[in-house]
Amino acid sequence: MTRAIRFEKVGGPDVLSFQEVTLAPPGDGEVRVRHTAIGVNFIDTYHRTGLYKLPLPSGLGMEAAGVVEQVGAGVTRFREGDRIVYATGPLGAYSEANNVVANRAFKIPDGVSDEIAASLMLKGLTAHFLLRRTHKVQAGEPILFHAAAGGVGMIAIQWARFLGATVIGTVGNDSKVALAQRLGCHHVIVSSRENIANRVREITGGKGVPVVYDSVGRDTFMASIDSLAPLGLFVSFGNASGPVPPFEPALLAQKGSLFFTRPTMFHYVTTPEELDAAAGELFDLVARGVIRKSEPKSFPLAMAADAHRAIESRQTTGSLVLIP
Ligand code: NDP
Repeated sequence: MTRAIRFEKVGGPDVLSFQEVTLAPPGDGEVRVRHTAIGVNFIDTYHRTGLYKLPLPSGLGMEAAGVVEQVGAGVTRFREGDRIVYATGPLGAYSEANNVVANRAFKIPDGVSDEIAASLMLKGLTAHFLLRRTHKVQAGEPILFHAAAGGVGMIAIQWARFLGATVIGTVGNDSKVALAQRLGCHHVIVSSRENIANRVREITGGKGVPVVYDSVGRDTFMASIDSLAPLGLFVSFGNASGPVPPFEPALLAQKGSLFFTRPTMFHYVTTPEELDAAAGELFDLVARGVIRKSEPKSFPLAMAADAHRAIESRQTTGSLVLIP
């Protein structure tokens, strides 16, 4: 037996409950991981509310760090006692232990704590595919990145700055401005009191940016469209304020023959080679001090609902973890 957060119906944080569950032995190609720290991600709230539909009842959570406790048949990647982290599921990371496909997990480098690994992996792999693959950020180009002081934002801003971009970040209120600046934003726009597109035009001498990374969704959609230069790329990678409403493709023509993509990390990290390349690059930048990761705010696993209330309140900065 082990204990896990489960939910039987979609809704607010109160639908989450901490329950005893049975965990089968790891199957072929799997390892059993005893969790030491569990990453909280905004996607977990989409699962809980039903924005992203799951068969119910269900476990929750895609990301955790821990120690390999049992190795299934055919696994050569890990041994018992290895410290590993995973970020592409299976769903059910909000638990004391989980069985994970070995090819989807990564050995935590020495010098990186389990809490940091669990707060870094999913968000760091996301920053990797956004900045290095969806659009390869170039030195000298301006980029617009929303929610700059959030979990993904905190990593992506440092990474984009390292790549040489002129980084324009948005934050929801003035209390997050100093942090966004410290992370490396050249310009910070406070979305609650400033016109994002007008500020971007001012900063870029009227041209607009070649790429917008937008995880806020509904509330920033038009501002992001209006911030793009002709032939610019709209990267819509989240819906923190709600999903982007349906729009006419002709809008992209009117606004400058824009490109629009709605990527998810799960299509960018599908093989162990892709995982190792992306995670290797991420942890190398952490080891070199390019990406500095502050200690995540932690909650007991049983209090996962409080972590959800916190991340949905827009009051958090950086990452949150659950401790079993
Ligand atoms: P964050 O820590 O960034 O929290 C979300 C942030 O969004 C808030 O802090 C807030 O920042 C901003 N926000 C704007 N409007 C709202 C709103 N109405 N309600 C709540 N938050 C709002 O979360 P994560 O780092 O976990 O994730 C960031 C985003 O990236 C999410 O949208 C997530 O879904 C997406 N994502 C997408 C992936 C993919 O593969 N496509 C993978 C990983 C994450 P502020 O107040 O400063 O505006």
